[in-house]
Formats: sequence, structure tokens, C-alpha cells
Amino acid sequence: MNEMTLSIQKQYTCDVLVVGGGPAGVTAAIAAAREGADVLLIEQGGFCGGMATRGLVGPFMTCYDAEGKEMIIRGLFREIVERMVERGFAIHPSEVMGGTAYTSWIKIGHDHVTPFEAEGLKLVLDEMLTEAGVRVLYHTDFLEPIVEGNIVKGGVFHSKSGIGASSAKVVIDATGDGDVAYRAGASYEMGNEELGLIQPATMFFRISGVDSAVTEADIQANLHNFYRKDGVNYRSFHWRVSEAKENGDWSLKRVSIGLFKMPKDDEWCVNTSRIMGVDSTDAESVTAAEIEGRRQADEIFRFLKKYVPGCEKATIKSTASHLGIRESRHILGEYRLRAEDLLAAKVPEDRILVAANSVDVHGRFGPTSNEYVPIEGSYYGVPYRSLLPKEIDGLLLAGRCVSADSTAAGAIRVMPPCMAMGQAAGIAAAMAAELALSPKKIDVRELQNRLTERDAYLGEVR
Ligand SMILES: Cc1cc2nc3c(=O)[nH]c(=O)nc-3n(C[C@H](O)[C@H](O)[C@H](O)COP(=O)(O)OP(=O)(O)OC[C@H]3O[C@@H](n4cnc5c(N)ncnc54)[C@H](O)[C@@H]3O)c2cc1C
Repeated sequence: MNEMTLSIQKQYTCDVLVVGGGPAGVTAAIAAAREGADVLLIEQGGFCGGMATRGLVGPFMTCYDAEGKEMIIRGLFREIVERMVERGFAIHPSEVMGGTAYTSWIKIGHDHVTPFEAEGLKLVLDEMLTEAGVRVLYHTDFLEPIVEGNIVKGGVFHSKSGIGASSAKVVIDATGDGDVAYRAGASYEMGNEELGLIQPATMFFRISGVDSAVTEADIQANLHNFYRKDGVNYRSFHWRVSEAKENGDWSLKRVSIGLFKMPKDDEWCVNTSRIMGVDSTDAESVTAAEIEGRRQADEIFRFLKKYVPGCEKATIKSTASHLGIRESRHILGEYRLRAEDLLAAKVPEDRILVAANSVDVHGRFGPTSNEYVPIEGSYYGVPYRSLLPKEIDGLLLAGRCVSADSTAAGAIRVMPPCMAMGQAAGIAAAMAAELALSPKKIDVRELQNRLTERDAYLGEVR
């Protein structure tokens, strides 16, 4: 085999390099730039939003406390939502209650979700990045970190321009999978290693042309018939799924349909397919799952048209351009957030956000199971230490890959907390870059002050 020689074609420098432009990365980049840092964001796709756009995931899960009284995830999340509401791209969470069409009639943990248009989010995020002065490179894949000792000093990436590299005072890993931390040698856990499980992947798709009044009437007539048995929720259209099964029109291991209404009256987001055992860090595993995901989406769509009243004339608006990945690497940080911390509503001194999202674990008891475990209190806190990889310096984690056990990650992985983590990581990175300090050495009280000055809510310590 020929030896491969790779030379750097384009060299960049920046204060803060953000890898990944999902909910965590995009907010990290905007927050860091607003603090005055020179920020470079690299993103594999052609737009930002990650699972919210590439994955067509929606709605934004709740941003309220457990009682549903107060919006507790604010800051950049709130600003993004308000900009979308103003343009008709989203419905404000204050107007959306659990147990309605916008939550697929799910009640637990679903008060005050935010239905939104993925296309609108792409536009709003581009505008906010441009206004903040973030330099963005789309269609750019992170390859390797530049590491000296145990300190990350930048990253190497690939695009149509060839190989690029950037030095950086601080790097933020917002890849969801923790690609930067992993390649820098950080310890991690893949899914739930204790149980040998990983949450299933889902191919989202959106449909339009639905006569929603008719569809919703079918649910209303059957709402009394929602139940849970053997860890499985029999919810929307389980009566239609069993009919299709009897007719040989249903081969999936699901018993009901996750159908979430979008801001436009005839559009719905379908969260139903389930692909088990996907390793999102393995190209062969992901490829097979993308193909299986589209096959399942096609079967679900044919089911909807044939069996669900109001969907007869529906069309598929789009399947997601990226498979929905719920779980992969959990990087080991200075603090590993545990399910017990969340369920007992603990709020640590160094919290960088508070949230009340219930633990949402799919597939733990087999392909059909899912759980929403609510917390015992108004909210819990996520510590700054969970953003700091234990053995590696110069690097912050934000979003799905932060340090948490699999069950805790099942709560904080949803998009509003990911955006709050991104905002905190961005401000922390800018502070570290400005003072030429390790992110592990910044003044956390000052970080918290800046967060609250920028509309974040940090609750009460307990
Ligand atoms: C099936 C499913 C259902 C969900 N349901 C909901 C829901 O209803 N509500 C809710 O709020 N949340 C939901 N979530 C959770 C939520 O969507 C994700 O956990 C969240 O988007 C994670 O944000 P992130 O920024 O950490 O990662 P991601 O959204 O995954 O973004 C990571 C970004 O990094 C980029 N990237 C990755 N690797 C590289 C690389 N090597 N080089 C360059 N760029 C890279 C990706 O292209 C992507 O844009 C769901 C998730 C799934 C999968």
C-alpha cells in the first residue's frame, strides 16, 4: 500500500475553535464571540442545528420547571425561540401544554415544549452567527486534535479545500459523539456499559398535507384507551397499529406512533422508527442504520396513509439527512453527573444551568420499551465540572457528550439543556482565552455572573 502523505493546505488561528454546530456548538460559538473571542466553528453539514435540523428532531423539549410554572432555561435558548416565534417558525412554549397534539399526547415531562420549523432554525442560526462575527466552515469534518502533552491546542479538519488546521487557545467539543475528546485520549463510556446497552437510533421524518382535524378526532375518541403494560406505552394509534399488524402491514417492534404536530397545521413530525444497537462512531454501523431507518420510515408512512384518518393525502416532506443518535460516548469529566443527582433535584455550587427534563430512556427493556422518569423537585443543576474532561486540558465539552452516566444523559441530552451547556461552554472558553488560563482554572463565580447577566437562570443551590 502507498504511504499517504497529508499536508496542511490552509492554516487558521483563533481564540476558540468550536467543533460541531448542533444546539450545543452553535450556542457555544455565539456566546464566545459575544464575549469578544475570535471564534472558528467547523460543521460537517451545510447548516447549523445538528439533530434539530440534520436530524429533523422536534419539538424542543421542555424549558420549564417540573411544576410547569416558570421558564428556567433562558439565555440564548430563549433568544433563539423568540426570534423564531417572531417570524412564525415556532410556537412559544408558554402556549404549548402536555397531552396535546404538539406533544404526541404525552403528558409526563411534556408541558411547554417548543414546536419549530427546521428551515426557520437554519436561517435564524446563520443570522445569529453572522451578527456575532463567528467564522463558520460548513462541509468540514474534524479529523484530529492538535495536542501537546495533555493540552489540546487546536484541530485538523478536512473539506473540499483539502486539509485545514487551526490553532486555538481553547477548543470546544460539541460533536455529540465526543470526537475531539476521544481522539485526544479522554476516557469515556459507550452508552450504558453496565447494562451493555445503547439507546436506539431513530430516522425522523416529516409529513405534510394532513387533515389534522380528522387525525386529532381519532385520538380524542381513543384517549381513554392509552395505557402502559410491561414497560411499554400504548399511546397514539395503538388501535390502528394492531389492526395493521393483523393485516400483515406492520413489521416494526413498535406498538404506537410518535406523531408531533408542527407549527403549520397540516404538518407533523414522526418519531417512531427504532434501530437498535447502532454505534454512531462506526461508519459501517451508521450506514446500515440509515438504510434501515429509511426502510422503517417508508413502512410507517404507508401505514399512516392506509390506517390513520386524515393522513390519506399526506406526503413525506423529508426524511432526516442524518439518523437521530440518542447516545454514544459519554466523556469522563471532572464530575460524572449521576441519575441520583438529577432525580433528587440536586443543585451544585458550580451549576451552569438548571433544568427539569425527566429522564427519557428508550429501549432499556427491549425494542418497544420507553420510560419518562420525572424528578423529585422543581429542577436540578448541571455542574461546570461535567464540561471538563478529566485527563485532558484546553478542551471543554458541550451537549450530548458531557460527563454523565447513561441515565442522567437521558435527561440532559435534550436540546434546551444542550443549548444552555453550549452558552456556558462558550463564555467559559472566551474567559479562558482572554486570560490565557486553562478552562479548569477560570473563576466559576465570574462565569455564573456573566451567564445570569446574559439571561441564564441558575436557580438556588441545594
Ligand atoms: C431520536 C431522537 C429523539 C429526540 N427527541 C428530542 C426531542 O423531542 N426534544 C429535544 O429537545 N431533544 C430531543 N432529542 C435530543 C437532541 O436532539 C440531541 O441530544 C441534541 O441535539 C444534542 O445536541 P448536540 O449539540 O450535543 O449534538 P448534535 O445535535 O448531534 O449536533 C452535533 C453537531 O456536530 C456535527 N459533527 C459531529 N461530528 C462532527 C465532526 N467530526 N466534524 C464536524 N462536525 C461534526 C454534526 O454534524 C452536528 O451538527 C432527540 C434525539 C434523538 C436522536
